[in-house]
Amino acid sequence: MPTFVRTDKCDGCKGRDKTACMYICPHDLMKLDKDGSDTGHAMKAWNQEPEQCWECYACVKVCPHQAIECRHYADIVPLGASVQPLRGTDSIMWTIKFRNGNMKRFKFPIRTTPEGSADPRAGISDFDKSKLEAPDYLFNDDLHACDMSQFGQG
Ligand code: SF4
Ligand code: SF4
Repeated sequence: MPTFVRTDKCDGCKGRDKTACMYICPHDLMKLDKDGSDTGHAMKAWNQEPEQCWECYACVKVCPHQAIECRHYADIVPLGASVQPLRGTDSIMWTIKFRNGNMKRFKFPIRTTPEGSADPRAGISDFDKSKLEAPDYLFNDDLHACDMSQFGQG
């Protein structure tokens, strides 16, 4: 389900050189149409190649105006219905709209610690940064020594 931009909601990230969706897209698909020459909508972003979309929805989640939606496949989401995520700092809400107008919302937690507080090396007492230079070093090698309970495992 590739994404598309709702021009009524997008503000072009206030004209910054790199918009949030351009920054986050792993496939460099999002583009800001500064003068409207590509789409007819100046200062609006667009997905320039939906067929190449990884459907990762990073852009959907990062857009501060919820201006990016998924173009659903008709066999999963029939015409007239929609499935839309809204990401918060600790949860994600999926809004399901049915063709008959019914709407359901499902909210799921997405993390167990406050945003920005993760310490990827917590519990690894002897982490040696210089080991990162070694071509055969795997960070996982050190994880066996780590207290996995901090990740809710083990
Ligand atoms: S992140 Fe959202 S508001 Fe910003 S340019 Fe992209 S679609 Fe528009
Ligand atoms: S869904 Fe992923 S790959 Fe597709 S445009 Fe958005 S960020 Fe890029």
